[in-house]
Order: sequence, then C-alpha cells, then structure tokens
Amino acid sequence: MSDVTSRGELGRGERVLPGVYRLRLPLPWPGVPHCNAWALSAGDGFILVDTGMHNSESMGQLEGALAMCGLQLEQAKLVVCTHAHSDHCGQAVPICQRTGAELWMHPSHELMSRMVEDPEAVLARRLEVARQSGVPEEPLRRYAAQRGSAEPGILGPLKADRELLEGVTVGSDLGEWVVYETPGHAPSHICLFQPERRLLISGDHLLGRISLYFEYGYSPNPVGEFLGSLDVVERLGARLCLAGHGRTFTDVHAHIHGNRALVEEHLYKVLQAVGGRELTAFDLVGSVYGEALSQQNGQWLLSQTLGYLTHLQSTGAVRRIAGEPERWTA
Ligand SMILES: [Zn+2]
Ligand SMILES: [Zn+2]
Repeated sequence: MSDVTSRGELGRGERVLPGVYRLRLPLPWPGVPHCNAWALSAGDGFILVDTGMHNSESMGQLEGALAMCGLQLEQAKLVVCTHAHSDHCGQAVPICQRTGAELWMHPSHELMSRMVEDPEAVLARRLEVARQSGVPEEPLRRYAAQRGSAEPGILGPLKADRELLEGVTVGSDLGEWVVYETPGHAPSHICLFQPERRLLISGDHLLGRISLYFEYGYSPNPVGEFLGSLDVVERLGARLCLAGHGRTFTDVHAHIHGNRALVEEHLYKVLQAVGGRELTAFDLVGSVYGEALSQQNGQWLLSQTLGYLTHLQSTGAVRRIAGEPERWTA
C-alpha cells in the first residue's frame, strides 16, 4: 500500500441535496480509487460523516473537497464514522484534535484499534489464519514482507466520545439521522437513516457497485451478520442511498436483493466445491472465485471464503476438521 496512485490527486466536493455534500477523496488502493465522506449542514457548521484515510496528502484533499462546497474544516461540529476501516475513519483523530469536534463511532473496532497500536500483531494474526487455511509458506513470506512496510492509513488512538449504538440520533438541518447497527462488512458498521426524507448513509454496507467484504475473525459469523443487516436496511424503505464509495443511487431495494443473491450464490459455490471432500479454505478459493490467490486479492478472497465456511458451519451444512491446516467437509 503506497501513496503512488493518489499522489497529486485532488479531493472533490459537490452538493447532492440542500444540506448534503459528497466529498470524494482519493485512495491509493488499486481497484478502489476513491471513498466518500459526507458533510451534513448543521447550523453554522456541519457534521462530517466519515473522513477518508490518513496519509501525507489526505488532509489537504479533504479540505479541497470541502472548499468546493463552500465549507472549511474548522466548521466541523461532529465527526461520525460509519465503521472502523481506514478509508472511513483514518483521519478522524487529527480532525477532532484540530477542530475540537467529538468523535462518535461504534465500539466494536477492535481490529482497527489493534492496527493503530500494534500493526505487527495484526499482521502476525492474519498470517496465522492464512497458514491455518492452507496458504503455502512462500507467498505468505512475500505478503508479510510487502505488508510489513505498508502504512496503516490511520492515526490513533481511536477513542469515541460517544458510542454509536442502535437508536442514537444525529441532528442536522435536514432533520435527525437514526443509527442502525449493520455488522457484517465490519463488526463496527452502522448506517444512518433520515426517516422523513428516506435518506440512507450506507457506508460500505451497500455500495452502488455490489462488492462484498467481510471482516473475518472479529465476530462469530460475519456473513450471517451481513445478511441480518440487509434485512434491517430493507425494512427502512430508503429512497436514496449515499454510499461509502461511488455515486448515490436510488434503486436501494434492487441493491439489497443483489447483495443477498450474490452471497447466496457464493455460499452455494462453496458448498458445491466442498462436496464430500476434505479441503482447506485455500483449496476452495479458486473454485468459488474462478481466480487464484495473489498478493493483491489474497487476504480479501481468503477472508470471504472463511466467512462463507463459518456461515455454512453455523447452519450445519459443513463441518470443520481441526488440524494443521484445518479442513472442511460437507
Ligand atoms: Zn469498509
Ligand atoms: Zn470503504
């Protein structure tokens, strides 16, 4: 993870509704070139929902995006994070230090806190999970060498002034936004819903371009939690979705169905691939995704596959066989 791809790129800001601004911030990640933060007008200032990641250029990019909306960072009254991933909360701490704003986020941010306090321990645990899942030593060594030098993209320590639990409200000129806990993508994930206008700030729970990610290893069953969170959001009947990446979109129900269908398709593929055999998660990645693990996609695809296996285990469809590495069978 280097700064190369976003070097020199500017943040961009635009008004999407009166009192709602989209701040499109560059990311240095292949395949994920931008993230969105949102500014919600509130009196003589604004509430900042999500922050972009932290690197040497990120604060300037955020300020540039705000300036395009006629806003200054000093007017931030409150920082709210949809979840504890670096592209959504990476700059929260320096922004709060500079503006005096409070930070509100969900308490289940164990992974990101550890990433700030002890990145080597996080990497070591990730390598252990990969080894246990049957990933061979040589690619693991290369991954470790590459990741060991990567910036975490976040400044800490992450400490919320208020915990964003179900039902907490955030006031803005548009009215109150209600917090809904939506774990799955990350255990700390929440969505904000504005009921009168039926606006949903969805973070990474629902994206315009369907893309699944489950933070494996920090909650009992991330895939099951994600499916439950889709039900939660479906009941809200949102009319417009303000997502953590990409443009806003209106066909919220179609996106919810699309996510559910893709999860079910992947679960089915995992189950088919396991069959009566005894396979490692590493063996299964290729048959589920049709591509081999690489340095770029490895952690991502392995996490998903382990997430699916854990979910299938919870329904009794597969069984884990303990060992080094561990194997799975139907
Ligand atoms: Zn995320
Ligand atoms: Zn994201």
